[in-house]
Amino acid sequence: MYLKSLQIQGFKSFPDKITIHFGKGLTAIVGPNGSGKSNISDAIRWVLGEQSFKSLRGTKMEDVVFSGTQKRRPMGAAEVSLTIDNTSRFVRFDCDEVTVTRRYFRSGESEFLVNKKPVRLKDIHEMFMDTGLGRDGYSVIGQGRIDEVLSKKSEDRRELFEEAAGITKYRYKKDEAERKLAAAGENLARVSDIIEELSAQLGPME
Ligand code: ATP
Repeated sequence: MYLKSLQIQGFKSFPDKITIHFGKGLTAIVGPNGSGKSNISDAIRWVLGEQSFKSLRGTKMEDVVFSGTQKRRPMGAAEVSLTIDNTSRFVRFDCDEVTVTRRYFRSGESEFLVNKKPVRLKDIHEMFMDTGLGRDGYSVIGQGRIDEVLSKKSEDRRELFEEAAGITKYRYKKDEAERKLAAAGENLARVSDIIEELSAQLGPME
């Protein structure tokens, strides 16, 4: 697996459509302070489903949309697409090439696409689970994040190891099953209440 390319338009400091080709091997992005290097890694985390605007260094999700400069008007939407070589089926999607796209409009509407077909955030989350790349992955580490990891509570640090060990998906499935079980339990309680109520009426009816 390797990242093939990243296409950005209207995201943070990139109003124009740009495509960064990574290819195999190591890619380094260099540039002066404030030139947008971290915005590129933010774009990767964002397209993979990052929901915390704080970790994207904003105060609200709208902050990911190009906010304009003295010479340029703000944009109405941000769009990022990440293309991955998936010949080794690194992500759970049966295609040799996977392009994940995220769009966000100032109006608050947003959408995710995989190979141009709309999907839910949950699908993206599940696709990248245990790869280290996803929303809760450890592959993209922002400035100051290492300190944060080291000073975190041991249970929080454990999450990182669990993702690396590939057991996140089982924990996720367990949580989901427990949620369904709780919902089924609630339904059962409701049905029992109804039965009780109806059986109380049964005598007089008879
Ligand atoms: P450093 O080397 O200092 O870490 P960097 O190259 O990583 O810098 P970034 O933090 O990626 O730089 O980019 C910061 C720049 O992005 C700032 O100039 C900021 O004004 C600009 N920027 C961030 N969000 C937006 C936005 N929504 N619209 C326009 N510009 C933005």
